[in-house]
Amino acid sequence: MYSEAKKPVAQKRKLVTAIPGPKSAELIKRRGEAVSASLGTAFPVFIDHAQGAIIVDVDGNSILDLGAGIAVLNVGHSQNRVAERVKTQIDAFSHTCFMVVPYTGYVEVCEALNRLTPGTHKKKSALFNSGAEAIENAVKIARKFTKRSAVVVFEHGYHGRTNLTMAMTAKNMPYKDGFGPFAPEVYRMPMAYSYRCDACTKPCESSVLSTVIHKIEKEIGASNVACIVIEPILGEGGFIVPCKGFLPGLAKFCKENGIVFVADEVQTGFARTGTMFACEDESIIPDLIVTAKGIAAGLPLAGVTGRAEIMDSIHLSGLGGTYGGNPVACAAALGAIEVIEQDNLVARAKKIGEIMHQELTAMMKKHSIIGEVRGRGAMQAIELVKPGTNEPNPEALTTAIKYCTSKGVLILSAGTYANVIRLLPPLVIEEDLLRDGLSVLDEALASISS
Ligand SMILES: *Cc1c(COP(=O)(O)O)cnc(C)c1O
Repeated sequence: MYSEAKKPVAQKRKLVTAIPGPKSAELIKRRGEAVSASLGTAFPVFIDHAQGAIIVDVDGNSILDLGAGIAVLNVGHSQNRVAERVKTQIDAFSHTCFMVVPYTGYVEVCEALNRLTPGTHKKKSALFNSGAEAIENAVKIARKFTKRSAVVVFEHGYHGRTNLTMAMTAKNMPYKDGFGPFAPEVYRMPMAYSYRCDACTKPCESSVLSTVIHKIEKEIGASNVACIVIEPILGEGGFIVPCKGFLPGLAKFCKENGIVFVADEVQTGFARTGTMFACEDESIIPDLIVTAKGIAAGLPLAGVTGRAEIMDSIHLSGLGGTYGGNPVACAAALGAIEVIEQDNLVARAKKIGEIMHQELTAMMKKHSIIGEVRGRGAMQAIELVKPGTNEPNPEALTTAIKYCTSKGVLILSAGTYANVIRLLPPLVIEEDLLRDGLSVLDEALASISS
């Protein structure tokens, strides 16, 4: 049983058993008997408690977390200012359903989203439980507002695992295989993925962007498109940063054709990329912006924020859900947002990004299996290839992750070709600890290259 006495947790990586230790191994066996085999495990230990960037497992190992629960714990594990608000809220009340009896936390989160998201126009928000649910609602809103049905998405994109969002997600295995039929009227367009795109040797302005626009006009008809939904930096797709000009070009096309531009900032949002939202990089002002992951430090919460005239165009009771914007999750969000702003995690993300980019670039010079280093801010990745080619090297990824795991460093994979190592450290990570993790990754790659 966890007791408060175990905190604070030293911000140091330290193994006292092999990974997994005996207690974790026992629990993994027990899990196998009770839990559906469909659920994967990125790191094979059971957690006891955590703080900052360190997870302490049930065997007493201190594991360095460079995944932050998939870009959720931007403020770190067990952030005090989040925990305090959650405890206070749950003592006061834990649920009413916002559409039955409202509460201020919900309104305050919407106010924060309206204030923090790009653009000074009048904005309104609605809250949901998960990224996928929020994406579905953004599509509902765009369709109702435009009275059109087509949804445009992109190759390598990821938007969730519900039926509509499976249709929107690009990758078959593991997300879609055998789960169809999928929702209709979803059209996938090429992505400006410079590392794997011949057209990208030219500026996007004259290549991928014009291909996309041509396809939309000829194959769908711009006047049938309700929305274009895109991640400003692709998350699960392998931290693909669209070529400069691609996002502004799409936004302009949307504006000219009455299409709702939806930014899926579920993974990129809340300071992750060195700006509060990734759209800020090229001064994109989305019509709707979808947030989740980093919003509430691990409590389930998601939001759709956008132009008031779009958000208000839905009939009364057209949107909602039993739990969406749960008061405890809203309390956590207000704590997380307070920490992001007070501790200037935007600047921290930028600094972390500089360190990671510098170290990864140095690794690329040494290890020919690194094909590309990319990302922005504290969202950096390396794409692993067969040396001297750009052929994906998923075997190297498996070996690298195995090595890091054995040393107590949690790193996540990504990419359409399962060959991308993505780094998403909590933004509160101390520099020494970050460098320690990167040096383990360097050793892992050295063990493969040699
Ligand atoms: C994780 C993710 C989603 C889905 O969010 P869930 O909360 O898992 O439903 C959607 N879009 C992006 C970009 C994501 O990273």
